[in-house]
Amino acid sequence: MELKRIYRFPEGWKPERNVADPSRATARNPLGLRDPSRQLNDVLNPPPVDHFLVKHTGVNPEQNFSEKLIRAGQTEGFLTMSGGRLILHSKPENLQYKILRGPGYYCCHCGKELPDANLFIKDDQGEPTDRTFGMEHVEQVHSGKKSPDSNNPAGYRRVNGYECVLEEGQHKKFNFHEFQKKRLAGPKRTERSKDNG
Ligand SMILES: [Zn+2]
Repeated sequence: MELKRIYRFPEGWKPERNVADPSRATARNPLGLRDPSRQLNDVLNPPPVDHFLVKHTGVNPEQNFSEKLIRAGQTEGFLTMSGGRLILHSKPENLQYKILRGPGYYCCHCGKELPDANLFIKDDQGEPTDRTFGMEHVEQVHSGKKSPDSNNPAGYRRVNGYECVLEEGQHKKFNFHEFQKKRLAGPKRTERSKDNG
């Protein structure tokens, strides 16, 4: 996926650069940067993102969005979530994603959401056992079956962020191969063909 951020500049906005100031220099911050965790001259107060310009949406329609990006998107206004859909405000058109899975635990066998999968089951005395609710689901429903996900041999997994899939028509229009085709056929190409020598 390749998107270009288009910023919305508030009135009177001026960039605050990560300038060096030798009077602030220390062993850990030899240049005396205002923010030593950033590069020299980085903009420290980026304006909010207004929308994205879509170059392409990748090879596959599946896309994962981190919770951090979603929070930023809702605060800055470049992303909307409603009714199981995630809309990324973009041009030439808004990208519409269906949310398959939100943050939480899921069974690798049947895909069921297991909200308490990581919690330990308590015994009669209220003491935690060494079995989790996730293990219990896998044992009861998928007894004896090997986890289909080798990264999660227990048979359930944690999803961080949001697993989404792009609307089919938009995937056809904006996928990486279409993007390459258009770019190769584009009018900007001035390379001479072999026939014309
Ligand atoms: Zn299951």
